[in-house]
Amino acid sequence: MKHSSISKISLEGREFLVKRDDLIDRHLAGNKYRKLYTLLQTPKEKYTKIISYGGTQSNAMLALAALCQQKSWEFIYYTKPLSGVQKENEVGNYYEALTLGMKHIEIEQELYKDFIASLRINMDDKTSIVDQGGADQAAQKGLEVLAQEVRAQKEILEKNNITSLATPSGTGTTALFLALSLPEYTIYTTPSIGDKEYLQTQMLSLVKELPKNLIILEPKRKYHFAKLYKEFYELYNKLKDSGIEFDLLYAPQMWQTLLEQTTESILYIHSGGVTGNASMLARYAKKFNAT
Ligand SMILES: *Cc1c(COP(=O)(O)O)cnc(C)c1O
Repeated sequence: MKHSSISKISLEGREFLVKRDDLIDRHLAGNKYRKLYTLLQTPKEKYTKIISYGGTQSNAMLALAALCQQKSWEFIYYTKPLSGVQKENEVGNYYEALTLGMKHIEIEQELYKDFIASLRINMDDKTSIVDQGGADQAAQKGLEVLAQEVRAQKEILEKNNITSLATPSGTGTTALFLALSLPEYTIYTTPSIGDKEYLQTQMLSLVKELPKNLIILEPKRKYHFAKLYKEFYELYNKLKDSGIEFDLLYAPQMWQTLLEQTTESILYIHSGGVTGNASMLARYAKKFNAT
């Protein structure tokens, strides 16, 4: 696998570098590629089935579907019950994952929590479970590989006076392991789900102590995950005009906090997720009458 490239963009009068993890693969890209790296390196023969669970917009779900197709592994994905509208949608991650062979199973709301908790009890050794969003110790290796790539690209970083990196958080797995793997850089992130305290708690389920070089920026106003915000849509379009498409769920808030609260040169690690934009863009078009 060759290193993902680095692009330069200008945004609101500032220059940023972007590590193009979005270009790694159509489905298995961004931080999901990094987090699933260990599984991707696993020989086909080791498993016959992968089980995961979570939301149906999930980028991790789509990445796993692509990975399992490559490996000829069965992929079972559990969610809470879906609405008919969601099922009929012919764009977005859910639709694409089904196309890649994902078997989707809905679990009743009341049973869901216990069902997920019991998944590991009856597991055979040809099956592997990937926790929601790939929030897993196994993610560490892939982020060490990313860190090695960044070090190998040090010349570009030095030329642009880069001392800080940034990437948005859901579970915080990516930002945490990146910060641990690159102690010589400041790593900025922002909580897309919940607040700073919630994100820290999530991270502390993976490690005992948070690295000092990890800085969690909170936006000035509170945003709710997967809701639509005009300023996010505008920022998405500005970024797109500058030459790179980012995802509409995580990236806008990260860019917003960087613009608001930092002044130095930054390398943004593109976290992928662009395939999920089709369904988000349809929602934005409906809400703001945009095209
Ligand atoms: C999953 C995802 C994230 C969050 O990654 P975590 O490791 O869970 O913090 C960020 N950006 C995109 C585009 C994602 O798909």
